[in-house]
Amino acid sequence: MQTGCTCGWCGRDFNGKTRGGHEQKFCSSGCRTEYHTACRLYSAALVEAGFLHMSLLRSWWAHKTDYVAKHVQATTGEGPLP
Ligand SMILES: [Zn+2]
Repeated sequence: MQTGCTCGWCGRDFNGKTRGGHEQKFCSSGCRTEYHTACRLYSAALVEAGFLHMSLLRSWWAHKTDYVAKHVQATTGEGPLP
């Protein structure tokens, strides 16, 4: 399904698609890639500047990867990856 959207990264209007109830957030793969690169560099800058402690980021990551593994197991019946 096509909907009128505004790119979350560059602000350009585009005809987005909805998949699984989620609206397309970016007008292009370039904007999506730039967004993810900026997120990675920004979080690293926060750690370097002392505004975010690496252990907090690590704790969040462990929780997230544990959540994803449980979600995959619940939906597919497959166990966690080795
Ligand atoms: Zn864009």
